[in-house]
Amino acid sequence: MSMFPDTEIWFITGSQHLYGEKVIETVENHAEEIATFLSDSESIPVDIIPKSVVASESDIWDVCQKANASDECIGLVIWMHTFSPGQMWIRGLNSLNKPFVHFHTQYNRDLPWEEIDMDFMNTNQSAHGGREFGYTTTRMGLKRKVVVGHWTNESVQTELGRWARAACALAGIQGAKIARFGDNMREVAVTEGDKVSAKMRFGCTVSGYGLGDLVEYVDAVSEEDIDALVTKYESNYELATPLQAGNEKHESLREAAAIELGLRAFLEEGNFNAFTTNFQNLTGLTQLPGLAVQRLMADGYGFGPEGDWKSALLTRAMKIMGSGLEGGTSLMEHYTYHLTPGEEKVLGSHMLEVCESIADGTPCLEIHPLDIGGKDDPVRAVFDTAPGSAVNASLVDMGDRFRIVANTVEVVEPDAELRELPVACAIWEPDPDFETAIESWIRAGGAHHTGFSQSVSADHLRDFARMAGLEFLLIDEETDAASFETELKYSEAFHKLSE
Ligand code: MN
Repeated sequence: MSMFPDTEIWFITGSQHLYGEKVIETVENHAEEIATFLSDSESIPVDIIPKSVVASESDIWDVCQKANASDECIGLVIWMHTFSPGQMWIRGLNSLNKPFVHFHTQYNRDLPWEEIDMDFMNTNQSAHGGREFGYTTTRMGLKRKVVVGHWTNESVQTELGRWARAACALAGIQGAKIARFGDNMREVAVTEGDKVSAKMRFGCTVSGYGLGDLVEYVDAVSEEDIDALVTKYESNYELATPLQAGNEKHESLREAAAIELGLRAFLEEGNFNAFTTNFQNLTGLTQLPGLAVQRLMADGYGFGPEGDWKSALLTRAMKIMGSGLEGGTSLMEHYTYHLTPGEEKVLGSHMLEVCESIADGTPCLEIHPLDIGGKDDPVRAVFDTAPGSAVNASLVDMGDRFRIVANTVEVVEPDAELRELPVACAIWEPDPDFETAIESWIRAGGAHHTGFSQSVSADHLRDFARMAGLEFLLIDEETDAASFETELKYSEAFHKLSE
């Protein structure tokens, strides 16, 4: 099942020639059966392509070079069917630049207790073949996921599917282009970062543009195209009375449509995957892009406000990871708190830019003053987020490395109707409890901006961080503030030593 066309995962099976050609042939057939089964799995969104069994150093070298050179191949699943001596793997794995899973499975699920003989033993050697591969990759210090269990297990398919999604996200941001309109919000620290490090780590490019570059596209939008988009707004959303045709703020809705069309044309023409705006840099635009950003995010663009290109990159990666799964992904900000003891909650939102993919029900288009930035009142989609589990993740630049801080949270209903709130929001209770979560988040330097998702899990993010070479710090129901503080110290030491 492929939701990610033009991507594939290669299934590589290790063996050696010691056993004779008949065994290799059996291994080959088993590998094909397993790869086909996994490829058909509902849990794995990418096709899994069996490659011929590798049984020598030159076979391994060869398949690694082909994987490196393939645009379609986003990663390898490597399985030791029999015993494949580790030294044969070193040269090939040293050169491999795609992520891989060490898949520790065995063709036969059950031991044939009554009939087991030496032939069975020799063709089902993963138990020790996998250990040889484990030693070799550990000795080499290679980052990889290890998945253990019979290939038909539901849990195995789920793990491989998660990893596949993370690999798609990594492949998707390599070469990604982020448009940054204006610069960073003045004097803000956490939204800054080293763009050269990002190029080295993620392969993405962050390119700055003046607002004039965007305004040209907005000005070029035709009245007919605005009419068509406004019609679409009228059928897709509820419209607040002032925005309806003939009423006093209808022109602002048309202006919002022009901004969306101009921004979309700019991003499409430049093949951008993500973008940032900054309310301090709006010269030539009549209003801060709100609805436009919300709708572009819903179409899969990554976004960061106030010049926050790291959040744009992270939301883009999370949108790829969660593609086709239930629940959406949005830029989010820890905005304000409910601090009644024992009932603490975070109200997450942004000035305008929350993605409608997380909306519970049909959003309402509204217009309100922004009270910041000094422009016309911007149009925005307003909605609540459905209760359920979610994750918040923040990508921060620690100077010598990038770090992801993630926190699992439970989205809850507001205590009362938010009648006056002029923006979309999500309300959550963080795991394991408010004090521990917030203390740990702050201690880890997690930002106010996050990628928030009801489709992506902490496990997806962990796989992504591992393969992208990021530090990963998770705050979840197991977290204890004192242990987390210690983990931060160890992690700091590890990253300094591993430089
Ligand atoms: Mn912000």
